[in-house]
Amino acid sequence: MTARRSSPEPADPCLFCQIVAGDVPAAIVGRGAGWVAFLDRAPVFFGHVLVVPDVHVGTLIDLGDDQLVPLFGAARTIARAVVIGLGAQGSFVAMNNAVSQSVPHLHVHVVPRTKGDGLRGFFWPRKKYGSDAEIEDFRVRIAAAVPSGAA
Ligand code: AMP
Repeated sequence: MTARRSSPEPADPCLFCQIVAGDVPAAIVGRGAGWVAFLDRAPVFFGHVLVVPDVHVGTLIDLGDDQLVPLFGAARTIARAVVIGLGAQGSFVAMNNAVSQSVPHLHVHVVPRTKGDGLRGFFWPRKKYGSDAEIEDFRVRIAAAVPSGAA
């Protein structure tokens, strides 16, 4: 089990904490124990939802064990809701952590997707490892930082 890390101090005031508290308006699509979901105000596609912990958490590595299932269970619920409610064929689910994260309160993007929707911006250029030794170097460095038995 991973120890719960403390979150960085929230930005003062944290925008998403204010949305959770109802102090800043947002188009709420659902809330439950540990989470709130609302429409992104600048959607990739209409119906793009942000799912956030209902207490301040900075990034994924700050999320406590007890917060994992509520948050990712909610992301699954919203991914299902955009299919059932909007007729999307599927979704793109992602988050930025620190780099490219414009709001420093953890948020899971759930973007409705349908084949042929013309999504631009996620066509990541791919690299090729130069050799098996290079693959092994990256494998070992990451594996060494994974605690044994970690989920
Ligand atoms: P990221 O760039 O991954 O940190 O995503 C932050 C997201 O928050 C962006 O997609 C913004 O459009 C969205 N956003 C920022 N302010 C608000 C707001 N007041 N209500 C809803 N969505 C917001």
